[in-house]
Amino acid sequence: MTLMDNKAIAEVLEEIGELLEIKGDNPFKIRAYHNAARILEGMSRDAQELVEKGTLRQIKGIGEALAEKITELVQTGKCKHHLELKKSLPKGILDLLEIPGLGPKRAKVLYEKLKIKSVSDLEKACQRNKLAELDGFGEKSQSKILEGIKHHKKTEGYFLISQATEEGGQFVRYLKKLRDVIRIEVAGSLRRHKEIVHDIDILVSSKRPHSINEAFTRYSEVDQVLAKGETKSSVILKSGIQVDLRTITDQEFPYALYYFTGSKEHNVAVRTIAKRTGFKISEYGIFKGKRFISCKDEADIFKVFGLHYIPPELRENTGEIEAARVGAYGHTPLPKLVEEKDIKGVFHVHSTYSDGVASLEEMIRRSEELGYEYVGISDHSKTAVYANGLSEERLKKQHKELDQLEKRFKKIRIFRGIESDILQDGSLDYSDKILDTFDFVIGSIHSRFQMPEREMTKRICRAMEHPRMSILGHPTGRLLLGRVGYAIDYDAVFETAKKNGVAIELNANPHRLDLDWRVCRKAKAQDVRLCINPDAHSVEGLSDVPYGVGIARKGWLERRNILNTMSVSEMEKFLEARKR
Ligand SMILES: [Zn+2]
Ligand SMILES: [Zn+2]
Repeated sequence: MTLMDNKAIAEVLEEIGELLEIKGDNPFKIRAYHNAARILEGMSRDAQELVEKGTLRQIKGIGEALAEKITELVQTGKCKHHLELKKSLPKGILDLLEIPGLGPKRAKVLYEKLKIKSVSDLEKACQRNKLAELDGFGEKSQSKILEGIKHHKKTEGYFLISQATEEGGQFVRYLKKLRDVIRIEVAGSLRRHKEIVHDIDILVSSKRPHSINEAFTRYSEVDQVLAKGETKSSVILKSGIQVDLRTITDQEFPYALYYFTGSKEHNVAVRTIAKRTGFKISEYGIFKGKRFISCKDEADIFKVFGLHYIPPELRENTGEIEAARVGAYGHTPLPKLVEEKDIKGVFHVHSTYSDGVASLEEMIRRSEELGYEYVGISDHSKTAVYANGLSEERLKKQHKELDQLEKRFKKIRIFRGIESDILQDGSLDYSDKILDTFDFVIGSIHSRFQMPEREMTKRICRAMEHPRMSILGHPTGRLLLGRVGYAIDYDAVFETAKKNGVAIELNANPHRLDLDWRVCRKAKAQDVRLCINPDAHSVEGLSDVPYGVGIARKGWLERRNILNTMSVSEMEKFLEARKR
């Protein structure tokens, strides 16, 4: 049994680094912890295995002290040093780090100078204008922090879709093994593929609901049972995420699934239609007067109201009901949504040449294993010093290695690219001569996020006018549950993209999922192509593509709207034409 997987260990190491930083410890020591956390996150083998074999120390960056802590974590599930550090500081101080713009160093200043020990302390201090007068902060940073606190409050208690998908999936697999389960499905916002979710809803049909509720509350990952009943139960998992179970009869299953998938707004709209046509719909069934209308699945339910099946991702009451009307005339009909299998290759893949943790070879091999026809390598450019960006010299070295790898990997086409920083004035990071050596260029903003909307839009548009630019990377720079993205004028950005044949990235990394699905339809209407990219920094990161596909579906996008649904020969032609 594993007490802690690599990710959990990495989180503890990261937190030790942060705590040491708040305490003002030795910077080298601090960096060693942060580095070790990244190494563990990207490692393909389990730390437990390395501990058992005694080979932990052979990994570059894991010294004796770190090996000790990792061993302790693997063997006991905790680390004494970590607990002591935590005890030595106020409880709420780590929460401060969740406010955008507040790193450990600044948290330390706030703690020492203003005795701020929690987010609510911080909010009060800002309201009293205390940060405006503080050295290294000032009025502007105070209002940014206040804004950050607002955002923090709004997203508190939310989880990334990747975490909910993983934990929900494991829970469902556990429940599926029970004999008494007839049908089981995840409902709620997770089924609708929202980018962040508050809780997980699971629906089970069964003749013996009691035993299902029993087993549900006994699941090994449960930390706390909030409620346990005959038809519904609620628990909080060790990770903090809440899971709600409802058990129903199998006849009720489709109605309950439809009802609990939501969204509320969608349900209200459908209920109104039902009323108008003399039906009543609830989680228990559809009735016309006293007559029960039998439906075997959700598609049947839609038929009752003269609608085509609406995929869960679209159920947000943003026009999907009108579009689903059978024989709808004068409306945009329901789109045929892009699917995972339509994605033929991936761009935006990092390696150890910049800040990735896997080698070029490993990233290419995994892309091939995943069945992709092509993979576009794009490490960071030279300005991105913090991310080990490539100097011209090292770029040459990378291209030499790619020459070799091309000979070895025959089944997958390797495209050479770069994730070029878009500099402050909108220029790209290398000379045209060097940019010419790439098959594609992703231009991304990695600095000066605070630019006002107009300037930022100009900066991005200018970059897109560069003939070598192929894809605009993570268009708003947002980090879900972390950083609010910079403001841009979407109309102008899409128009410029369209005019210059530049694709807009739909970054599939679950921390980003940027472009937002709410804006995808606008891009579609302006006939801009999107590119679903993993922005992978590890072999596992390549598997994030489905999260991006889910967001694309939520944004009404079809196969033709997505650049990397092109086959390898189409893509070769496309990139070649852009070079002329
Ligand atoms: Zn980037
Ligand atoms: Zn990147």
